[in-house]
Formats: sequence, structure tokens, C-alpha cells
Amino acid sequence: MSTATLQTNAVREGFRYPESIREAFIATPGLNFRDGSYVSSEKMWEFLTVEAPRRFPYSFSEERIFGESLHDYTYFAGIKHNYLNLTLRDRLLKAHANGVPIIHVQGGQTVDPFFAAGAIPVVPGPLRGWATSMKEGLTLYQAGQRATDILEAGRSAISVDCCNNPVGAMEAIRQNLIPIDMVVPYLALRCTDIAYTLESYRTLVKDIPLHFIDYPVTRDTEWTVQYVAELLRDLVKRIAQLRGVEVTEEDLWKEIKLENRGRKFARDAVELVWRAELPPIRSQNLSGIITGGRFDRGDSLAGTELLEQDFAEVTQRVRDGVLAPGVSEDAVRLISVGSCFGLQSDFVEAHGGVVVGTDDHLSKIYADVGEYGDPYERMAESILSYNYEKETEKRAAYVVDLVRRSRANGVVCGYNWGCNYQSAVSRMIADIVKKETGVPTLNLVVNGLGLSRLQGNEQTQNRIESFIEMIRH
Ligand code: SF4
Repeated sequence: MSTATLQTNAVREGFRYPESIREAFIATPGLNFRDGSYVSSEKMWEFLTVEAPRRFPYSFSEERIFGESLHDYTYFAGIKHNYLNLTLRDRLLKAHANGVPIIHVQGGQTVDPFFAAGAIPVVPGPLRGWATSMKEGLTLYQAGQRATDILEAGRSAISVDCCNNPVGAMEAIRQNLIPIDMVVPYLALRCTDIAYTLESYRTLVKDIPLHFIDYPVTRDTEWTVQYVAELLRDLVKRIAQLRGVEVTEEDLWKEIKLENRGRKFARDAVELVWRAELPPIRSQNLSGIITGGRFDRGDSLAGTELLEQDFAEVTQRVRDGVLAPGVSEDAVRLISVGSCFGLQSDFVEAHGGVVVGTDDHLSKIYADVGEYGDPYERMAESILSYNYEKETEKRAAYVVDLVRRSRANGVVCGYNWGCNYQSAVSRMIADIVKKETGVPTLNLVVNGLGLSRLQGNEQTQNRIESFIEMIRH
């Protein structure tokens, strides 16, 4: 039997949500979407048990190396996060066909102005996943290979020195694998590869409008707020022109209030998890809540409704003293630190750990937009207040605070190959955090993002496994 046949068979025998939970699951609330549609939990169940395993078999693989493992079926809100992940492709294509601009946003900043202007922002990670999912029926290995092929082509077109994240996204756009209507890089210091990709957009992608948002290094002056507010004003005007409509301040306030609400649910759920005696949900579900609080799955309305369900379910589990399946009672609590870097949670849990958050994404759910005065100035203040973007010593102080609040036992600082700024500051943050908290820190360079983690995985895993063992013993 060929390797390909073996892999296909393995996937056919892959994970399925058990019928035994169907009734309880479909009794939970559905989700409303921005286009006016409503999806009941019963419809989600049908999609996840019939359609998705056929179209996206790699997501149902039993292999632990897949980063979006669906295996925990005890946490219903987590199942719905999987629904949002697996339907991202269909929802983006449908929105694009209906004239909603799909905008690629780089630099790790807020998405409020994009949704307010009637567009859908997509950041590099989900964009690369979207490009991979445009081919259906792939096994885990085939999906990984497809993601790697896109990356390799991007490395040739841009540079082998550039990090995987922008390269994969940029190449998917360059090859027209997905329809993108505008590209908006935030020129933030944290992302050194913005420079590579800007040059690439100038030379390789000429037919998609570009709009830059400058992110000044001096952040806390009135002038800076006015300056960024003006750039956001221009951005919203440009998106409105693409749509042929006018975007009012009322539209902006409606979106800001919605996203503030979502961010609060995310924060409250995360803090409940941190305070709980036993880890009540799996690392991946916590990560879904944190990234859900930056509305990265194409719909801020469904995202907010789901975060409300997350909060309710986490509250119940903490009240009932539930221990998440697959997580040790005395799990080593790890926090990950760095841009576009996360720990492979299945792996961490299998070795007696649990992940309690990532400083980059957490920074966004703690940056509400003020609900008074000029909405553009308030959005600018929010962006400029991100702890993650602060000077290195202040950022380290923010991590110290996170370590204490999350009761982390270990800190894994990581940076991707090609991420020059983060590679320069990562060691410094690790040292400051260790000195201030006494908590052990690990400093890692990684080379695997998303499905491309088929590459260069073992070395990272060995070091994380040893780190967990060292803390435990
Ligand atoms: S890893 Fe660093 S260089 Fe790469 S996209 Fe993220 S911030 Fe930018």
C-alpha cells in the first residue's frame, strides 16, 4: 500500500464528534452573523460532523502535530470556535462575492475600524490557513505540504531571510489563491518583516490597493494620537470608497461598543481560568478565547456572541470544579511570549503542561476603545496603548504582571526565524522576567508556523519537553 493511501485511510478513521453529545450541543444557542444570517447549533453540528470531515479531513486527524485539534468535545463553546475556523473560507468567499472588501491587515493591530467600515480584516495566520483550505479533501500531510509549498514559493519571491508569516500570506495573495481587496500594513517596530513585504507589494503585487498606517515609536503624546487618528480616518474613507457608501460616526460607535463588549467577555473568561484551582479548559480553548477577543475569524458579531458563551461555560466549569480532559491536575503552567509565536498545546498537555496565554494576543483584549469624544482618536489611543508595543523594559514589566496574574510556572520566550526585532529583545525580556519573578524562562528560535509546522518541529518540542520536566522536578 502506498504512503498516500495509508495516510488517506488514517484520516478516514480520524476523529469524529460523538453522537452522545449531539442533543446537549444542539440545545445551546446558535450565532448571529454580520450579514444578517443566523446559524443554529444544529446546523453547526451538521457541518462539523458531515460536511467538514469530507472537505477538511486534515482537521480531523488524530495526529498531535496539528495545531487546531478538535478532540475536546466536552467544551461546547470550543466546538463553536472550531466551526468559525472551518467556515472562515466559505464566509470570506461569500462576503467577497457580495461586495464586502476583504482586507489583509499586517502588524498585529486593532480591527475595529475595518469592521466599522463594512470590511472584513484578515491577519496573516488565518489568511495562510484560508489559502491552504482553498484546496479541499487534503490529508494532514497533504495540507502541511501545500502550506509549505506556498511558503517556499514566497521565500523564493521575497527572501529566505524573511519570516514565514508575511511570506506565506504575501505569496498566497501574489498567486491569487484568495481574493484580497486591499492590503493594510501597520508600520510597527515589532514586525521587522513589514519592510520586506512592503517592498514586495511595491514590486510583485501591483493591482491591489495598499494603505499604510504608521505606528510612531513615540506613542504617548497628543500629537501622536492626532496623527494616527488621521491615518485611521483616511483608512475608513478609503474602505468606504471601495464599497461606494458613506461610513458615519454612528457606524464606528456601534462597532466599537460591540468589540468592547467582546473584549470584556474574553478578559473575564481568561481571568476566571487563571484563578481557577484546576485548569477548567484546555490550552487550545483558552487560546481560542484570547484570539477570539481580537475577532480574527471574520465576524465581530458572531465572535462577541461566542465569547459570551465562552464566559458562561467557563464560569460553570469553574463553579463545578471541572478539570479539562487531557490536562494534568498539577499541570506546569506556561506562558508564551513573542510575536506570532504560540506553543503547540496538544504537545504541552501531553507532557504535563498547560498554556495560560500569550503576551501578544492578551495585549489586545486589554485595550478597550474609549466610548466618548472622537472615535478615531479613541481608536488611536487604544492602538497606541498596547502593552506589547511598549519599550522593551516596560514590555517585560507587563510580562512580569501576566506571570503573576496567571500564576505561570514557566515562561517560553520565542521568536520566528527572520523576526529580527523580536530576536533582539527576546533574551532581554526572558532575563528581566526571571530576575523579577524567579520563574524559569526559556528563549527559543522557531521555524514553524501554522501547518508549515511539518518543518523543523522536533527540536523545539524536545526543548519544551525538557523545560516542563525541569520545572516539574
Ligand atoms: S514573527 Fe515577527 S517578523 Fe514575522 S510577522 Fe510576526 S512580528 Fe512580523
